[in-house]
Amino acid sequence: MMLERKPIFPHVIEMNVQAGQRIGCNVYLVFDGPDWLLIDIGFEDTVDEIVEMIRQMDFPLSNCKAVIATHADVDHIQGLAKIKALLKAPVLGHPLAKEPLATGDPIKTYAEIPAQNIHMSMPTVALDSLIDEGDVVEVGGLRLEVWHTPGHTDSQLSFRLGELLFSGDNIYRDGCVGVIDAHHGSNIVDFVKSLKRIRQSDVKWLLPSHGPIFRKDNALVERTAQRLESYLHMADFGTCAIDWPLMDEFDRELEEGLLPR
Ligand SMILES: [Zn+2]
Repeated sequence: MMLERKPIFPHVIEMNVQAGQRIGCNVYLVFDGPDWLLIDIGFEDTVDEIVEMIRQMDFPLSNCKAVIATHADVDHIQGLAKIKALLKAPVLGHPLAKEPLATGDPIKTYAEIPAQNIHMSMPTVALDSLIDEGDVVEVGGLRLEVWHTPGHTDSQLSFRLGELLFSGDNIYRDGCVGVIDAHHGSNIVDFVKSLKRIRQSDVKWLLPSHGPIFRKDNALVERTAQRLESYLHMADFGTCAIDWPLMDEFDRELEEGLLPR
């Protein structure tokens, strides 16, 4: 059985869009001729469905040049070990993703949130190749420029292909961003820098790791960067904040012996 390819841009298929329903995180298939690669794979239990769609779109499974981890969060990479075994393709990711993936680190990968009774499996997987800022991943005649865009996690990567940016969990169409959580390596200062870099770049389209693909809106990206900048001085994000001005006020008021007004 054959499946008609529905590219969203030349050389780019997104598997949720292709399926016409939400399977999980966005899984991008970038292809040129018979050669292709995947950006993220999602949860383990959707790997078979995704591979079957790829087969039905007539991409030779043996021509998979790489499966890339945008970062080491369970909802993006739980299926990596399984697809690596199926396709025998090299798995690529940032050096800081290497250890959590190799050990299946349940905290860093978000597989376990004991306080919420969330316990997911995190099959271990070895990265075959480490990619970082300035590297280029080639598929056919296409060149994906690797950007290291930390903030959501320390290993977060983005990939530029001409006017497209596979932007990971940096920003979504509604201005939300990938979860900020100290336990899995979030850093708000880095996050703001990554957002500003995206705003300043001349890419036209953002292809995020969750939700709809959208045209880059500099005002939205700037508002989002400013919102995150405000978090740096708010208690809301705990140890991810750099200070809390209310405590300075409190110190002064204690010193002055001020009573509740
Ligand atoms: Zn995510």
